[in-house]
Amino acid sequence: MKIGVVGSGLVGATAAYAIVMRGIGRAVVLVDLNMDRSQAEADDIFHAVPFANPLDVIAGDYTALNGCRVVIIAAGVNQKPGETRLQLLQRNNEVFRQVIPQVLKNAPDAVLVIATNPVDVMTHLAAHFAAEHGVPSTRVLGSGTTLDTARFRALLGRHVGVDAPHVHAYVLGEHGDSEVLTWSQVTVGGAPLDEFCRLRNITLDDATRQQIDERVRRAAYHIINGKGATYYGIGSALARIVESILGDQRTILTVCTPHPDVAGIKDVTVSLPRLVGGSGVLETLPLHLPTDEQNALSRSAGIVRDAITSLNL
Ligand code: ADP
Repeated sequence: MKIGVVGSGLVGATAAYAIVMRGIGRAVVLVDLNMDRSQAEADDIFHAVPFANPLDVIAGDYTALNGCRVVIIAAGVNQKPGETRLQLLQRNNEVFRQVIPQVLKNAPDAVLVIATNPVDVMTHLAAHFAAEHGVPSTRVLGSGTTLDTARFRALLGRHVGVDAPHVHAYVLGEHGDSEVLTWSQVTVGGAPLDEFCRLRNITLDDATRQQIDERVRRAAYHIINGKGATYYGIGSALARIVESILGDQRTILTVCTPHPDVAGIKDVTVSLPRLVGGSGVLETLPLHLPTDEQNALSRSAGIVRDAITSLNL
């Protein structure tokens, strides 16, 4: 029950902290290019163990990943001033070219959970490098829109006055500006959203919908403006994904993994509702979307596909 985290920056370390707080597995191993950083994070998180759950938290090199059933990859470089998105992508491509083979050499049976942004493209890349080691793409998944879906459910739940676990709603497509909030699929306590609101005399006008859409889609911008980075939400989402894999829970999560065809876009990696369990992605669930949402999903998948194409894999 050992979990690896490669890249012990803000996102990786917060995921490790969330894993300890939730009591998932028995040990967490932090790996980073900067070993002082991973050692410091491991020590700091380990000191929380007596207040939380009995896990071991250590730092190590890639060989310490031996025996991991799940490895989170949050390693990456940040955008330099004046650097284009594509240049950044090329540098993170180089990071993954080094990292993925090292992880698989030491933890050949692990499910890889990708968190590095742009997460859809990075997950496609990770699956590409993992395939060279005989790993099926279903064993490589990205956090995708797991967090966006949680934000959507939380805001809807607050609006209708119902606990978020009883609100079902999905954000699909790219984890980013073009993501698709599938309003048509929302149910509350088993009832379609509009019907639930009508029966309960709750107003859900276009302005409210737009407000919720903006707060989901633009959440990262608002947080980065205020504090420079986002990590608690994504760290918790990663811990939840790991829990589902370790416990073979068959959880429906909007993770991303390579797919032959998403709304007409071939060989692309974006989020769809997926059954997640012990071996990674067990199934992609079928969806019947109305034309406007289907078109938006196709546009979103097209944007990710263009970024993948630009890498000339
Ligand atoms: P984020 O906010 O996404 O977590 P950070 O910059 O805080 O971003 O963390 C990224 C981490 O990835 C850093 O700790 C960095 O040292 C690490 N990293 C970068 N390149 C590599 C690599 N090739 N192998 C392992 N770790 C790496």
